[in-house]
Amino acid sequence: MTTADPDSEALSGEDEAEFRARCRAFLDRHATGAGSGGHPDPRGERRLRAAQKFQRALTEAGLAGLTHPVEYGGAGLTKAHERVWRDECARYPSMTTELTISHGMCLPMLAEYGTAEQKAAWMARNISGEEVWCQMFSEPAAGSDVAGLRTRAVRDGDEWVIDGQKVWTTLAHLCAYGIVIARTNVEVPKHAGISMFIVPMDAPGIEIRPIRQIDGGTAFNEIFFTGVRIPAANLLGEADKGWAMATAMLMYERVAIGAGPVGGIDTELSDRLIEECRQRGAIGDPRLRQGLMQLRILEACRSLVSMRTRAELKAGRTPGPGGSVGKLAWSELLAAYRDLSMEVVGAAGAAWEHESGAAWSRNALSTLQSSIAGGTSEIQRNIIGDRVLGLPRDISADKGVPFKDLPL
Ligand SMILES: Cc1cc2nc3c(=O)[nH]c(=O)nc-3n(C[C@H](O)[C@H](O)[C@H](O)COP(=O)(O)OP(=O)(O)OC[C@H]3O[C@@H](n4cnc5c(N)ncnc54)[C@H](O)[C@@H]3O)c2cc1C
Repeated sequence: MTTADPDSEALSGEDEAEFRARCRAFLDRHATGAGSGGHPDPRGERRLRAAQKFQRALTEAGLAGLTHPVEYGGAGLTKAHERVWRDECARYPSMTTELTISHGMCLPMLAEYGTAEQKAAWMARNISGEEVWCQMFSEPAAGSDVAGLRTRAVRDGDEWVIDGQKVWTTLAHLCAYGIVIARTNVEVPKHAGISMFIVPMDAPGIEIRPIRQIDGGTAFNEIFFTGVRIPAANLLGEADKGWAMATAMLMYERVAIGAGPVGGIDTELSDRLIEECRQRGAIGDPRLRQGLMQLRILEACRSLVSMRTRAELKAGRTPGPGGSVGKLAWSELLAAYRDLSMEVVGAAGAAWEHESGAAWSRNALSTLQSSIAGGTSEIQRNIIGDRVLGLPRDISADKGVPFKDLPL
């Protein structure tokens, strides 16, 4: 197979129809719904394994990593192919939500900033889902202000030695690798002394502990690094230049969360609630109908924002602050869905273990995370204000101050 020009925008009508049929045949067979098959899955393992199984089949069908080069495990196809694939995916249940961080954030960083050796070493197994990657940015005192991080990495011969703590690391316990940002220079202002590393999650000195969530799950973790040694070759990009890359990865994160894995107008949430209203004989209730319409409109707006973001991505490789608009739209949409779903299911929304409404109550609680994960809604509004609308910037008292002189 030859590698096509990935930037190519157009497919001939015949090629497109053929490729569309290929995608549809694959999805008909394999996109049968992810999830835990009704089994308890507090650590997210069943859902991840289901996503990996789907991804393995996708790889065997030559449809994984569509625009990535064949020599790095991709399909070597074009953005036009990717657009068709997303269109088709929009008609099926999402199968790879659990791979959002690995594929939506870590893979683009490897592809964009990795050396040829790093890409050859890691991209193919990431694309196939054989090895899943996590993101280790947040720390107990560095979440919104992630540049204030205190985890240190010190060069020792051919190795870096990492000490510190990360927190809220989604699926770390099931991942083979993670991308870490750590402080490598305390003599310069906080944004200037950060580097990015690829860390094997089984390296000696890494301890992963689960965190219990409000919805009963334990899918994220705190991670302790004690004298963790990684090869110098695991530095991604240049030493002390990691902040620009961290910002890029956060933008990929916002696009991955906000734009979602599918293209087109995605009406999955309103469809689900309309069906629920029908089953409960409540579809004629004018108040619920009003809510359903509002939800449908929010979904359409969010989808249109996603389409614009994707169109912008075609122009440059790294997504810009506009990704925050999509991320914020996603959080607002989920909040509206949460409120309306509780109205639709009524008292059943309070049910918990082994009750028919348990899925709704868990869903209501878990959707709260959408306004925090990937940067809070307040931070998205700040970014949109500063960097999209050009309003005056937020005050930063530590500007230009060497990190070592900042108060603890
Ligand atoms: C489900 C989930 C999954 C996550 N997965 C990961 C992961 O895999 N890897 C990872 O590294 N992190 C992950 N995170 C962490 C996430 O990125 C942080 O929780 C988030 O950035 C907020 O940081 P914080 O929790 O420290 O809150 P803080 O930064 O302490 O914020 C507390 C409150 O203050 C507000 N605030 C802070 N600064 C400002 C400001 N300048 N202006 C206005 N308001 C402000 C915030 O909006 C928030 O309401 C995850 C979080 C969640 C919920």
